[in-house]
Amino acid sequence: MSKPKLAIVIPCYNEEESLPNTLKKLWEYKIHLIEKEKISPESFIFLIDDGSEDNTWNIIEKAYNDSNGRIKAIKFTKNFGNQNAIFAGLKMIKKYNIDAAITIDADLQQDENKIEEFIEKYEAGFDIVAGVRKNNEEYGFFKKLSSELFYKLINALGVNIKPNHSEFRLVSKKVLDMLDLYRENNLFLRGLFYELGLKTAYVDYSIKERAFGKSKFSFKSLIKLAASGLISYSTRPLRIIFFLGLLIAITSFVIWTVTIFVEIVLNHDINAIEPYEIWESFISGIQILSIGIIGEYVGQILLEVKDRPRFLIDKELK
Ligand code: UDP
Ligand code: MG
Repeated sequence: MSKPKLAIVIPCYNEEESLPNTLKKLWEYKIHLIEKEKISPESFIFLIDDGSEDNTWNIIEKAYNDSNGRIKAIKFTKNFGNQNAIFAGLKMIKKYNIDAAITIDADLQQDENKIEEFIEKYEAGFDIVAGVRKNNEEYGFFKKLSSELFYKLINALGVNIKPNHSEFRLVSKKVLDMLDLYRENNLFLRGLFYELGLKTAYVDYSIKERAFGKSKFSFKSLIKLAASGLISYSTRPLRIIFFLGLLIAITSFVIWTVTIFVEIVLNHDINAIEPYEIWESFISGIQILSIGIIGEYVGQILLEVKDRPRFLIDKELK
């Protein structure tokens, strides 16, 4: 049986420090897999320069020139973000008739030696093989806590995604074909792949510390990703607002009825004004919060309706 043609897809944003080492390691590993007859010799590495401002593209061009066509790349016109970069990579490799693609980060924090296990699962019939982070020590306290909270929250909102799985993932050609059917602008890949309903296997790996450079995710971009994951895959916050409104309406009706009964019928002054004021400021807080939540959904609808391109390609190395 012929061996699968694999594309290793790597999003890169200002990765000049990491890339030389990463490319060397992955290149060697690719050759190792070819020699072991695990993948086809036509397998290649595909890099997406997500609008880097540093030397990343020069490094990519040089690697491309030395690779005899086994390193390919695109360069975005500007930074479109990690999710769009991965998505673009998966779209662009389709024309090379690959059998499967693996996405991995440019800093090689994920254990590339696990790729062989991913391929074995693929050969066993799984269309998606997702890496699951087994250790968290390399993450700071805050990142650990926020990641845990995020997975708890998103699962509580009915989105059933496996905790601690990352963008270290193998997908089959079938998955790439299905991706074409998804037109959404607001990408949250961990949710999207789960949506497909295909046979998924999980492979545990230990995350390493970032060896070169700094994380390219700012606090702001992490919050944005978490929010877009929640908004894209759950409308439950809107329903919670509805029931909260109902609950508050019923409660105020009860308070109102009791007050009238006690003050007018029993003629007993219970001085309800002060508790009422506290109650009212609480309600206005809830109202503003609710409007905010609805606003997030409306904003998302606006972006989806505009249907702007998810990425723009400035250069391509085929
Ligand atoms: N990345 C990207 N665009 C961005 C931010 C990050 O393509 O706007 C890439 C980055 O180069 C890396 C991967 O996404 O290959 C994961 O980023 P990073 O390692 O900085 O994230 P962390 O591991 O800290 O969560
Ligand atoms: Mg990283």
